[in-house]
Formats: sequence, structure tokens, C-alpha cells
Amino acid sequence: MTTLQTSPRTTAAWPGIIEAFRSHLPVTDATPIVTLREGNTPLIPLPRVSAAIGRQVEVWVKFDGLNPTGSFKDRGMTLAISKAKEAGAEAVICASTGNTSAAAAAYARRGGLRAYVLIPDGYVALGKLAQALLYGAEVLAIQGNFDRALDMVRQVASRYPVTLVNSLNPYRLEGQKTAAFEVVQALGDAPDWLCIPVGNAGNISAYWMGFCEYHQQDRCQRLPRMMGFQAAGSAPLVLGQPVEAPETVATAIRIGRPVNWERALAVQHASQGAFTGVTDAEILDAYRFLAAEEGIFCEPASATSVAGLLKLKDQVPTGARVVCVLTGNGLKDPDAALQHNTAQQRPAVPPDPAQVAKAIGF
Ligand SMILES: *Cc1c(COP(=O)(O)O)cnc(C)c1O
Repeated sequence: MTTLQTSPRTTAAWPGIIEAFRSHLPVTDATPIVTLREGNTPLIPLPRVSAAIGRQVEVWVKFDGLNPTGSFKDRGMTLAISKAKEAGAEAVICASTGNTSAAAAAYARRGGLRAYVLIPDGYVALGKLAQALLYGAEVLAIQGNFDRALDMVRQVASRYPVTLVNSLNPYRLEGQKTAAFEVVQALGDAPDWLCIPVGNAGNISAYWMGFCEYHQQDRCQRLPRMMGFQAAGSAPLVLGQPVEAPETVATAIRIGRPVNWERALAVQHASQGAFTGVTDAEILDAYRFLAAEEGIFCEPASATSVAGLLKLKDQVPTGARVVCVLTGNGLKDPDAALQHNTAQQRPAVPPDPAQVAKAIGF
């Protein structure tokens, strides 16, 4: 095998989140780094959403759907897989609404490990299923929802030599906190509000860890209010009790018993934040608005953060700076896109300039 040399032309290339934030992460020289150069995702201004809110409110999105497997899960998975490999693991397992399985499969295979993923039968978006299969995971569909699948993998991981890489794995949150570092670096400080979709509540906890760590080190002067949003049909943290049969178009956050429940409440308390429910109709409005008005295609669950901000727009302080997290890429869920698209798909026309011109209204 030939060794890849780092030529002078590539020394400035982004190295992935572990190398970029090494001093903030639990790695040593002995840790084998498994990376796909995740992180360094863009912070994009939303002029139309800002205008819809008014009062000089400045809205940005952290588009983490632009990670290597198309979701923020890559930030946690690079670390979880690197640490599993360091510990000598040969296989990893997770339950997933889709994106965790795609990330686990990609990083595990890249690190030479086997990946087993359990998904709720019939409720995983097509792109995510395709990814897990192509990346070479063993995919098992479970008759039951995500919460049931997670029960299964917890029991299997406690009895057999396979490492759990759900967000119960502490390295996942350590890796994911790097998104908060990038937000602070891009803005020069933390935002006033951080709006984020909440499923298992791992990511909201990770962002808060990241902001607090930078704040303690004087790298930011303020801490944001953490505004968590859940789909109304799957909103245990809003209701204050588990939801037995969660339902929502936002399948990535279709979770009735969040594993990071206690952490999420602590974040809400410490940041003076809130958990708010948004309906599927509101989520889909934001989903279409982001694509058609801002040119940003995220998956339905991700649009929950912008839907929530729009719902609470009268509560946003004048002149505030708001960052909404877009957790996953729109290409993950082509069925949702086609099903909830309101544009007309026209009949095919003959390949004739006159007919084409006529069809577009000239
Ligand atoms: C995993 C996921 C979430 C939810 O994140 P939690 O850490 O479970 O709260 C939201 N959106 C997308 C696209 C996801 O993949």
C-alpha cells in the first residue's frame, strides 16, 4: 500500500473535528483517528426569514446537513468510532431513525469495524436506508418504533462484545459540541438564541457543553438561550411525559422517550431556554420556505428549528442574533420532498422550442 503524503498544497485542508479541536477532546497520540473530514460547515444568513421577523433580528443557519454523510451525526461518530477502535472494538451497534445508522456505517467501515444498525420498520427515510446499505452496515428492521429499537441495542450491547454508538455513548456528545465552537468562531461570540430540533436531546446538550466550555475559556462573552423544538405529535419534553406512539413527518425526531431527558431539562434551566412544539404543517411550511426562498434544502426534522423560531417570533428580542441548527440534508428524504411539494409538475412537452416557450408562458 502506498502512503498518502501531505503535499504543501494540502496542508491548509480542513482536517476534521478531532484534529481541529484536539485540545478540547478526549483523545491522545494513541487514538487512531477515523475521519471523513467532517465539520467546518457553513453558517448561512437567512435574509428572508430575518425580514419576516423584522425588528433588526439577524437569523443564521448552521447547515450541518453538509457533513460527509449529510447530518450532524458525523461530528459525534468520528470520535465514537475512533475511541471504539482505540479500545479494540471490532463491531458497533446503534438504533436509529436513520442518520445515526448512516454515520455509524460510514465511520465504522472506514475504521475497519463492522456496523449493526436497528431501524424502525417503515419509518426511515429512503436516502438514509440507502446510505446504511451502501456503506456496508448490517441493517435490521425492528417491528416497533425507535424507542423499542434502542431498548434492543442497549440489551445486546450490555451482553455481547459490541460497542453502543447511540448518544448514550459519551463520545458522541463530545464530538457534537464542536458545532458550538464553530458557531462562536464564525460570529465572534455566541448568539442570543440557539434554535434546535430535539429528538433524543443529545445535540442540544452537546451544543450547550460547547458554549459553556468556550465561555469558561473567555472565547465568548455570552451564553445563548437554548430554544428546543419538537414535533407536536412527538413532544415528550414539551408535555413533560413520554409519548407512547410518537407520530410526525419529521421522522428523525420521532422519539417518545428521549435518552438525554435529564440533561435536556438541565440545559433548559441553566440557559433560561424553553421546549416548544410545532405542528407538522408548520414544519413543512418552514421546509418549503427554506428551499424556495433561501435556497436551502434540509430534511423536515431540521426545518423544525426555523418553524419554531417563526412561531415564537414575537418573543425574539429586538436586534437579537439567532442561530437555527439545520441538522440534516434535504436529499435524505426525497419522498417527503415530492409528497409535500406544492409546485405543479407539468406534463412532458415535445422537444420543440416553440412548444417549450409556450409551456413556460411566452
Ligand atoms: C438525530 C437528529 C435530530 C435529533 O437530535 P437529538 O440529538 O436526537 O436530539 C434532529 N434532526 C436530525 C436530522 C437528526 O438526524
